[in-house]
Amino acid sequence: MAVEIPFRREFSFEYGRLEPVAPTIRRIVARNPSPFTFRGTGTYVVGQGEVAVIDPGPDLPEHVQALLAGLAGEHVTHILITHTHRDHSPAARALQQATGAPTYGYGPHAGGHRGEPAVEEGGDWDFVPDTTVCDGDRIAGSGWVFEAVHTPGHTSNHLCFALPDSGVLFSGDHVMGWSTSVIAPPDGDMAAYVRSLDKLLGRTDAVYWPTHGPAITEPKEHVGAFIAHRREREAGILDCLRAGVWRIDAIVERLYIGLQPGLRRAAGRSVHAHLLDLVGRGMVDSDGPANIDAHYRLVRGV
Ligand SMILES: [Zn+2]
Repeated sequence: MAVEIPFRREFSFEYGRLEPVAPTIRRIVARNPSPFTFRGTGTYVVGQGEVAVIDPGPDLPEHVQALLAGLAGEHVTHILITHTHRDHSPAARALQQATGAPTYGYGPHAGGHRGEPAVEEGGDWDFVPDTTVCDGDRIAGSGWVFEAVHTPGHTSNHLCFALPDSGVLFSGDHVMGWSTSVIAPPDGDMAAYVRSLDKLLGRTDAVYWPTHGPAITEPKEHVGAFIAHRREREAGILDCLRAGVWRIDAIVERLYIGLQPGLRRAAGRSVHAHLLDLVGRGMVDSDGPANIDAHYRLVRGV
């Protein structure tokens, strides 16, 4: 039976308005809706008076202006970046110019090359954090302390930020309510992604605030469903290989029923990520380099 993911797509907000969503947490949504961003990038503000901003968002001057207008009379002390996709980090530059606040992130964009065709929003190759943050690091401000949780998979530099005192986790694009995450090699890594989901299952956070869409209030159920979904997808890919369907585009055709044409490439990259994981585990082989156009086959005995 197909895994049911408890998606959440009820999302009320107003573009351009910094709105309270929970005690000490506010959010403003950028007007960059797309098949990968849902209604747009949700930029979070934590604290009151002296605040941290998480993921300033895409390079949209109107978004930064609206954020600054919403913060009139307050002081931005920290700019936190979950990862370096173009819908998350580029506005850090304008926000820093306006406020002087330092940026915090795992590191610059990695994997692949500047200018290569990207699915999703592509990499922000210009962002370099002022302070490099590692797994478990604490970032303290006025009335709040974040714990950084390194969650590679969607990108290798993805961080979630927890507020351990309030049971909140800002989950970035690692765990979202409205959709599964895009895992696109070379920077996206399926094995790392599933390990990072397992890592969250071992934590006690009570509510997740993703960058796109509404909060997730039953995070373990949600994360468990994502893990089951990936296992199911992997089993489907192995079935395809057993049935002699060896190419990624043909596997997508067979497994993704009713897929919007605009999402075909992302689906192909996701299947590629699974195949690279299976190659890494010695279960699958490719004729030639294990790229998006290769023929894949089961290793004898699998
Ligand atoms: Zn992303």
